[in-house]
Amino acid sequence: MIKFGPSGNSESFYNQGYSSTYDTPKYLHDLGLNAFEYSFGRGTNLSVDKAALFGEEFSKYNIEVSVHAPYYINFANTDEEKISNSIGYILSSLKRLKAMGGKRCVFHTATEGKELREKAFETTLKNIEKMLFVVYESGYGDMVLCPETMGKIRQIGTVEEILTICKMDNIFIPTFDFGHINSREKGLLKSADDYKIIIDQIFEALGEEKAKNIHIHFSKIQYGNAGEIRHLTMDDNIYGPEFEPLAQILNEYKMTPVVLSESNGTQAEDALLMKKIYYDIAGGNNA
Ligand SMILES: [Zn+2]
Repeated sequence: MIKFGPSGNSESFYNQGYSSTYDTPKYLHDLGLNAFEYSFGRGTNLSVDKAALFGEEFSKYNIEVSVHAPYYINFANTDEEKISNSIGYILSSLKRLKAMGGKRCVFHTATEGKELREKAFETTLKNIEKMLFVVYESGYGDMVLCPETMGKIRQIGTVEEILTICKMDNIFIPTFDFGHINSREKGLLKSADDYKIIIDQIFEALGEEKAKNIHIHFSKIQYGNAGEIRHLTMDDNIYGPEFEPLAQILNEYKMTPVVLSESNGTQAEDALLMKKIYYDIAGGNNA
């Protein structure tokens, strides 16, 4: 089934007096949400024991938990030591994710350095091969790696690049961040047909099973010449993109993705709003 939830705890969660992710699963369940993404963006400093404690709660309340690996990962780097650090960030994220009872680990693949983009992408693919070898060797072959489409022009992560990576190995399911795509392409996503072109590309590249179950990040995002500037909330009506036309396509293609709100502070509320928009279109059909 399609799932909705926030990426990180919303301001409302803290305003209600909660401070630990231990309380998140019940909080989300009571709101009517069923997904959550835990961020290791600034590092994997959560102990594995604590991750396991959180995991019991996520499972008790039937919340699908995913994690976001550290932002420092850069597989376009040409320094071997930096690459082994990047691989290490993936492994320590997977270790905690497994303890939490989740499967999906989102990560940013790379940023262009001094190399031209084509060369940087080649380096990225080569280093991702190395990472895969270590991931399988370390016993994480049953997990799911979710490389993300990115919002800044210099970041690796166009729709085509992410699909190319996902075709490399069965362990990959893409993270489609439609706010990022819209920022990178300066307001590309307006109509349901705009979304349909991208969704069709996913079906064609990865087949129906994977395409139906992609990972989705959604938020409105302010952008400029270099792409993404900052995440907004669903209240924005300048930058977009809008969720309604995407919800139409998700329904039309009977997709069952995990949909996470990355709004700035109102992630839980905006996840609920997306759920409402979706079911207003889908009716009871895909419940
Ligand atoms: Zn991300």
